[in-house]
Amino acid sequence: MKTSEKIIYNFLLDMTSVFEISKTENSLAASLKYVFKTFGNITEFHIFLYDEVLNTLKDFTKPWEVLKKDYRANILNSYFCSFKYNTTDYIKEKNTLVFPVYDDKKLSGIVYIKGEIKNKLLFEVLPLISRQISFALSNLKNSEDMLIQGKFHKTIRNIAKIIETQYELNYIMPVLGEMIDGFIQEHLIYVFLKSSKKKNDAKAWKLIWPNNCSDERIFDYLSVVNPKSTCILEDEGKIGIFPLFCDGKIFGAIVAKSGLEKLNNKDTDYLIEISKQASTTVERASSYMKILEHATLDALTGLNNRHQFHTRLHSEIANAKRQKTSLCCIMTDIDFFKSVNDTYGHAVGDCVLKTVAKAIKKELREYDIPSRYGGEEFTIILPNTSLEEATVVAERLRSQIEKKKINIEDYRIEGVSSINVTISVGVSVYNNSMKEPDELYRAADGALYKAKEGGRNRVVVAQ
Ligand code: GH3
Ligand code: MG
Ligand code: MG
Repeated sequence: MKTSEKIIYNFLLDMTSVFEISKTENSLAASLKYVFKTFGNITEFHIFLYDEVLNTLKDFTKPWEVLKKDYRANILNSYFCSFKYNTTDYIKEKNTLVFPVYDDKKLSGIVYIKGEIKNKLLFEVLPLISRQISFALSNLKNSEDMLIQGKFHKTIRNIAKIIETQYELNYIMPVLGEMIDGFIQEHLIYVFLKSSKKKNDAKAWKLIWPNNCSDERIFDYLSVVNPKSTCILEDEGKIGIFPLFCDGKIFGAIVAKSGLEKLNNKDTDYLIEISKQASTTVERASSYMKILEHATLDALTGLNNRHQFHTRLHSEIANAKRQKTSLCCIMTDIDFFKSVNDTYGHAVGDCVLKTVAKAIKKELREYDIPSRYGGEEFTIILPNTSLEEATVVAERLRSQIEKKKINIEDYRIEGVSSINVTISVGVSVYNNSMKEPDELYRAADGALYKAKEGGRNRVVVAQ
């Protein structure tokens, strides 16, 4: 092999391995720049791809950035056009070399190299190099598309799964927001609930995810949402509104806002599918809710559910009155539980709920009545118990849970095999001045609120 042939051979070999190992646009561009140094002193290496929606070239390592409308952009576009209309294989000017790349035989962009090319052999193999880079680009695009598809299906699956543990809208909706936000990372995502009572104006819409929405126009757009559409584009296509339906009525909306350009067709297609799945999830949750009105146990923890708690509270108060015995109520709430979900995910959150429920059950007597009141709140009805005794139980519960190492090895979180949580507790005792049975638990709830205010991880007795 001649030296010149050897150089080309090695160069092509290097290029092949670049394609094999480059998994991102940036690493591909950087490695190619390096490999091209075989031929001279290369200072710049860029690939610009044509964006059909915006009718302009974009640096493929920065797809979110549009070229500034300046002298350089004009030149780049004119290079692109000359490949479109002529049959030249490459353009060589002073220190610049430009050649085309294709997507399935269609001109898709240009490779732009700056530097002094010392070895002229390069020009002979340029058509081959162009074809190879084109092939690498479409491979990269395909594997990215597959990755997004995979993420999309996972998101859809997760949205469908939310209701395995919870049926309440004010829990489901923020989780939904979190999941969509994780999938659509390029745009701002908002989730809104619409009040069914008010007429449709800006005030009927409440932001659920995230904590604030500084763009007031979104509320205006929402107030004129057409109940027939699956997607409404506003602000020249930069804001997409995707209504959520339950039993044929709008109950909420997902809103996507793009900071730079229009939302592209792919994003809106994904969001339409996601909002359909979200609607289905909520529809199923609401029918579960109806069924659950007849159920007595909470699906996640196996404790009584809220409905059953109220039923038992009424009958136990009646009993206590009849038998003139003392009756207490304990209300607990896990401290900073949201951050458990945020840090370790909802599956770990659910595991914590189950563990806390189990620990509560273990500390109680046979005839005490523990319930999951909702979310991370538990109640305990203690028949035949004085306030002093109930306070001892409450304190024992608090300290047992504080000590408990909650094993989360199954969730494979690097470096964390167990976590700890604490609870705040309110205690109240029934007295004859209480007119409604619910006053007993409201008193416990008030004490719980004080425990939170007082710094959490403590027991407060209602006065
Ligand atoms: P505080 O100490 O004031 O109680 O703070 P907190 O974070 O515990 O309170 P907050 O009410 O802000 O958050 C409660 C969280 O509980 C929010 C919600 O996502 C989560 N949650 C409610 N139900 C469930 C459930 O069934 N599973 C999981 N994983 N999380 C739940
Ligand atoms: Mg709470
Ligand atoms: Mg809490």
